[in-house]
Amino acid sequence: MVIGVFCFRNDLRLHDNQALQNALNQCDRLYLIYSFEDRVWKSENPRRISIHRAQFILESVLGLSHTISKAGGFLHITQGNIEDAIPIFMEEVGADICFLSEENAWEEKGVENSLSKIVHLRTDYNKTLIHLKDLPFEFKNLPETFSKFRKLVEGNWQVDTCVGSVNVIHSSCHKISTLPPLKDFGLYPSNPSRHSCFKFKGGTLSGQKRLKDWIWRKGCISKYKETRNQLSGPDFSSRFSPWISIGCLSPREIYWEIKKYESKHGSNESTYWLIFELLWRDFFQFSARFHGAKIFHSRGIHPERPSIHEPENAESLFVAWKNGRTSNSFINANMNELRETGWMSNRGRQNVASYLVNDLGLEWRRGAEWFEEQLIDYDPCSNYGNWLYLSGFGNDPRTTRYFNTSKQSATYDPDGNYTRAWA
Ligand SMILES: Cc1cc2nc3c(=O)[nH]c(=O)nc-3n(C[C@H](O)[C@H](O)[C@H](O)COP(=O)(O)OP(=O)(O)OC[C@H]3O[C@@H](n4cnc5c(N)ncnc54)[C@H](O)[C@@H]3O)c2cc1C
Repeated sequence: MVIGVFCFRNDLRLHDNQALQNALNQCDRLYLIYSFEDRVWKSENPRRISIHRAQFILESVLGLSHTISKAGGFLHITQGNIEDAIPIFMEEVGADICFLSEENAWEEKGVENSLSKIVHLRTDYNKTLIHLKDLPFEFKNLPETFSKFRKLVEGNWQVDTCVGSVNVIHSSCHKISTLPPLKDFGLYPSNPSRHSCFKFKGGTLSGQKRLKDWIWRKGCISKYKETRNQLSGPDFSSRFSPWISIGCLSPREIYWEIKKYESKHGSNESTYWLIFELLWRDFFQFSARFHGAKIFHSRGIHPERPSIHEPENAESLFVAWKNGRTSNSFINANMNELRETGWMSNRGRQNVASYLVNDLGLEWRRGAEWFEEQLIDYDPCSNYGNWLYLSGFGNDPRTTRYFNTSKQSATYDPDGNYTRAWA
């Protein structure tokens, strides 16, 4: 008899989950578990999670636990880093094998590596729209730039169909466990922001509702290319990112939903553009996998480029930036939206990143770490990849990408409504 443990990570779903499917196929008795990892939840300096993402993850784990119960199974909840908590749990239940979905970022790969030295581990890859095995080149030849990557992928397009949903789970219960309260992590819910026009709710059900609403009911996908650079409003972009980042939605299910929509309503540049953005995500995932720890280094993947020399008052400039108290009201507005809601538009993110690096002369990692803590959709590959890209130390032949914030606010916030609401 094979006794296994499946540990959820950033794959909080029962559908399109290859690793879970394999665990169910292989085990006679299977235990499901989720661990609130100390490295994220208990980190103090810097803090690595804010109330917005914490709440979103808690809601998602709770939703997952309910869905599992309805399917006849049980989700164990624990605390501690996976490589510490899982071997203890496996010993308690007498498990022979652990199953995990594979990640791409360096720290997460380190977890896989450490765990594989302690227990029998099986990982499955499920992270990107284009599966690692379907890349039209050898991984060691991953192109340096997104445009080369995209052209190669588009020339040999292959997206797998989704892995079927798991409707019946015979997972075993070892001992009853409950969700930890947020105050255990020093986090306290705040009142919803007055200006916020969108409420993110964690869990696959709300993620799939957003998918249907935004694509089908509102038809926003058909004009996405024209609206995607806006700053405010609930629907100018999909807002799928928080659900994708922790795996309540899979990029493949979004792709196939768009294909279904196209076959009914026709395709246009906009319907393709969302897939194009998912390819950006893939590119940063693969780039992080390729470059490992380098994406967290000051000079990123370009150690040959000159290092950053910050001004003497760097710390006070940074404090003003993160608290929305710079001399630039457009930047302040975006930073306030981030702090109060955990979210900021892509246009806003590009502007505040350029401002930190180019106008304030600060090291990009200060901004990236602040985003890591604050963003409701934080993902190491997308976050550090985008920051590197904008600061000239990433996958971009250009060494600077300067956003002129006066021009940007005149173009994207011409009547100043966004800035007035948030500054
Ligand atoms: C400095 C900076 C930091 C960022 N940090 C993150 C992060 O931690 N997590 C994150 O998910 N995105 C990050 N992004 C990318 C992008 O801003 C967000 O994915 C997007 O704004 C989320 O909103 P949406 O779901 O409405 O996106 P849409 O415009 O509707 O795009 C659909 C999906 O495509 C993907 N996507 C779109 N643009 C990008 C991009 N530039 N890079 C990678 N994926 C993309 C996302 O999964 C997104 O949900 C960052 C961008 C910048 C400039």
